[in-house]
Amino acid sequence: MTNQPKQLSLTTKVLIGMLSGIIVGLLFNLTGLQSDGSFVKTYIVDGAFFVVGKMFINALTMLVVPLVFFSLLCGVCSIGHLKTLGRIGTKSFVLYLITTALAITLAILLASTFAIGQGMNLESESEFIEKSAPPLTDVLINIIPTNPIKTMANGDMLPLIVFAIITGVSLIMVGRKAKQLIELAEIADEVMMKMVTIVMLAAPYAVFALIAKSVADLGLELLSQLAAYVAVLVAALLLHLFGTLMLIFKLLSGLNPLTFIKKMRTTQVFAFSTASSNATIPVTLKTVTNRLGANNSIASFTVPLGATINMDGTAIMQGVATVFIANIYGVELGITGYFTVILMSVLASIGTAGVPGVGLVMLSMVFSQVGLPVEGIGLVLGVDRLMDMVRSAVNVSGDAMISTVIAKSEGKLDLAIYSNPDAGLVDDDEVRLDEQVEIEIAETIQKTHDKS
Ligand code: ASP
Repeated sequence: MTNQPKQLSLTTKVLIGMLSGIIVGLLFNLTGLQSDGSFVKTYIVDGAFFVVGKMFINALTMLVVPLVFFSLLCGVCSIGHLKTLGRIGTKSFVLYLITTALAITLAILLASTFAIGQGMNLESESEFIEKSAPPLTDVLINIIPTNPIKTMANGDMLPLIVFAIITGVSLIMVGRKAKQLIELAEIADEVMMKMVTIVMLAAPYAVFALIAKSVADLGLELLSQLAAYVAVLVAALLLHLFGTLMLIFKLLSGLNPLTFIKKMRTTQVFAFSTASSNATIPVTLKTVTNRLGANNSIASFTVPLGATINMDGTAIMQGVATVFIANIYGVELGITGYFTVILMSVLASIGTAGVPGVGLVMLSMVFSQVGLPVEGIGLVLGVDRLMDMVRSAVNVSGDAMISTVIAKSEGKLDLAIYSNPDAGLVDDDEVRLDEQVEIEIAETIQKTHDKS
């Protein structure tokens, strides 16, 4: 009997990549190897690490539009009924808004309890250039795409979802004649999923590069300056993730939250390293369907919708930042002020996509609404990239949690998959081409060639 060494799972490899990224990044930062103009900074951190990380994020982003489009198309076609579609839509919308509202309330309570920022007088480290968040009227109008090709080219999620749903509904209505087109969409969806697997295999190296660069650039110094803000923020994020979300999960689905947490690890690391729920959509979708057992008819709809409108982690950052800045500037917000903050950030999260740094844009909108000085954002800017990584991981966990709950409530959750710890694990074999298939494909191509 040959004693083959056991292959490490992708999750383990990604975690190793992450840890080594932290170690190497810290090493560069603390030893001063990464000073401006040095070899390490120019060629390794801003060179190799930057390029590898950026290429990986590009590869993930490349998959988002075709994947969302085709899987949503298949999803709508397999749901088949407009009424069911409407019910799933309403349920997910309401649950997404409720969890976001709970998230920010928890954040405000926690930050107020610890009175962070009181008696502190910090100078702004970096400059914040204010960008305005889209007004609600524009958000509503832009849900309907004027040009679907432009929508796809821009990667605008809400109009893309609308266009895919209308196309799917029309395919159902056309009926038998559209059967081939539906089948084609199913094949395209499978091909896109395979691409996700291929891209995911590069993750351990890319995650290493992304994290090493962030840590090398940021170091620990900034963290200690804003220690209270960072500590309360991270505590609120963890409390929401493991407390509130898991409680809601247990109450609404009756499933074991520990299984959920274990199966979400890889997706969270992806969101953490890319700081983007949008770029993580392919991985979230794969996890929710293949690892957690939700049917694609539900997940193809709830996951991209969640990545766009559901941002619990971001809402938490806004709650903590609001209390922090209000305390620093000695502004008394009062109950009405805090209610406005809750309402504004829930609304703001609907119109902004899950891309890096968008939380700050939304924060400026919240600040101007409640009369806090927008330049206050400069105070938390230094640590925001790191916090963005953590909150993005919480954001995608919320999307996956609600997706699983909705699938369960619709009877579209495969419990055997959910409870199987190895279900849907990505491994190298998945992308290995079968030699026989390879020969068959080559023969078919040859035959077609000969005929013409
Ligand atoms: N980066 C976050 C996300 O993609 C959004 C944010 O808070 O900036 O989920």
